[in-house]
Amino acid sequence: MLIDTAEITLRGGHGGAGMPKKVQGPDGGNGGRGGDVYLVGSSDLTLLNQFSEQDVFIAENGAMGARKNRTGKQGEDLTLYLPIGTSVIDKKTREIIFELDKVGQKILVCKGGRGGWGKVEPDKGEVGEEKKVILNLKLIADFGLIGLPNAGKSSLLNELTNAKAKTANYAFTTLEPNLGVLEGRYLADIPGLIEGASNGKGLGIGFLKHIEKVKILIHCIDASSNDYERDYQTIRNELGKYNKNLLAKKEIVILTKSDLVTTKPNFKHALLVSIHDSQSLEKLKTLLH
Ligand code: GDP
Ligand code: MG
Repeated sequence: MLIDTAEITLRGGHGGAGMPKKVQGPDGGNGGRGGDVYLVGSSDLTLLNQFSEQDVFIAENGAMGARKNRTGKQGEDLTLYLPIGTSVIDKKTREIIFELDKVGQKILVCKGGRGGWGKVEPDKGEVGEEKKVILNLKLIADFGLIGLPNAGKSSLLNELTNAKAKTANYAFTTLEPNLGVLEGRYLADIPGLIEGASNGKGLGIGFLKHIEKVKILIHCIDASSNDYERDYQTIRNELGKYNKNLLAKKEIVILTKSDLVTTKPNFKHALLVSIHDSQSLEKLKTLLH
């Protein structure tokens, strides 16, 4: 199941202590600076899962200063990758500190402490900055691929974008939404819609929540199905039962796996698409401009 919220504690490394200087003799160096904590946006939507194992993340402390004026080693920075669409909320104030909305966007969240000065009076160095944060993921996507299991959603996502979603010829291969980038726009594969999904059947309504944020729906219907209207209405019913507003979203209907049919199907002006027909993929891409 996709984890879309987590609570974690982040802390920069403490500064290393300064080496006390002797009034006479070799000089003590400054302590090293503690490492910083960075958050970086990623298109991997499953990244909040990492926090079910560990919820405290601390950058490395700076090392103590050494004799002969040598500064202690700096602590290593710590970088955590989070899915784009993640809001980082301060647990105490409940204010949004950052919203990661671009892949590769890098944010300094906790500064490491300054190293202590090497001086006659011992100087311990500063402590690293600490924050307790709530992470809340809302899928941001321009386009959402919906349709019954096995309709070819993940295959299309992989063809149209850099994504590497798992595909297979059975229902529920995809247990988590995937995200890919097509010419700077985000395309999401939203699995798990079946009859009864809005009542918690199958993968349930976890994914319906994410459809709310998607701008345009790409409704995939298997061209080799024997009843397009039924397939189409099954999905529309679930959307409507969950939230009527989903039915008002702009929708592009496509018939997938068109290579499997010999006579040209006709359904709601749907575009015929096959992952084995690059021309059809190009046509779909131009629709998504
Ligand atoms: P999803 O459940 O909607 O994500 O469907 P998948 O993308 O996993 O595809 C289901 C099956 O249909 C897989 O075995 C795919 O290889 C196959 N498939 C997907 N697109 C096409 C297509 O255009 N033509 C053919 N012949 N098979 C396809
Ligand atoms: Mg899939």
